[in-house]
Amino acid sequence: MEEIREGVWFVAAENRGKYPFSNSLYLEGQKNILIDTGTGSFLKDLSAKTDQVVLSHYHRDHVKYNHFFKAASFSIHSADAPGVESEQGFYRLSGLDNVNVQEYWNMVGQSDFGPTKIDTYLNEGDIIEHDRFKIRVLHLPGHTPGHCGFLIEDYNLVFAADLDLNRFGPWYGNPGSDPEQFRHSINRLRSLKPEIMVTGHSKPALENIDQKIADYAAIIDQREESIIEYLRKQPCTLDQLVDQKIIYRRQYEQTALRYFEKNMIHKHLESLLKRGIAAKTEQGLYEAL
Ligand SMILES: [Zn+2]
Ligand SMILES: [Zn+2]
Repeated sequence: MEEIREGVWFVAAENRGKYPFSNSLYLEGQKNILIDTGTGSFLKDLSAKTDQVVLSHYHRDHVKYNHFFKAASFSIHSADAPGVESEQGFYRLSGLDNVNVQEYWNMVGQSDFGPTKIDTYLNEGDIIEHDRFKIRVLHLPGHTPGHCGFLIEDYNLVFAADLDLNRFGPWYGNPGSDPEQFRHSINRLRSLKPEIMVTGHSKPALENIDQKIADYAAIIDQREESIIEYLRKQPCTLDQLVDQKIIYRRQYEQTALRYFEKNMIHKHLESLLKRGIAAKTEQGLYEAL
């Protein structure tokens, strides 16, 4: 754990922050708050002194060790709550009905789902009560419908979870994900001009944050341009576009990854259709206009 500001601890995740782990933030005071629990099994050491666990969103890499915190209260946005409250809700929000579920669990390095009882539901603009810090809830959808960031106003420090500034770029592979909302959430975060940005899977960003956020947002545009470029060559099916590996950019044997690639490409196509940049032919092929 690293104290990045007085009373604010960055908890670096196992596996250098890579999936299926994610970084946490720990806020000290009369009441101790932990944001996200996917850091590693060492979080057990914090379980006795943590009063509240705040979850950024329902993904397993951010809620992995919820079960350690038996005495704490739990909070998450209502749109993502079903994903932690029940296994059925998790599959529904994940859109995993159509993929090999066992393969998915292997991929995330887990074998089962444990439900979490949620005590309070977060909303945009809520202030999370704390004796030392003013913690504002930022509803930043796009990655998931209920994805939230948290602004520690005292330090202009944002915990932005999976609005992550990594090189892979924004991820929007769930049924309720939305690249347009993601773009909007990124712009909103940028307008706050945070001085420190802590995210789920990267090291804390302390400088050039504005540029880093702009670069991250540009990845959505680059993907869209690659899709348009391919459609200009010839009308094609969704599966043909998925074969181009525009998003994951590598070979993947796991059907779950292909499934997520397909969802993300499909989200782009829906957006292009809506904006009149692409159309669907009578044969069901996508074409550029
Ligand atoms: Zn996530
Ligand atoms: Zn994550």
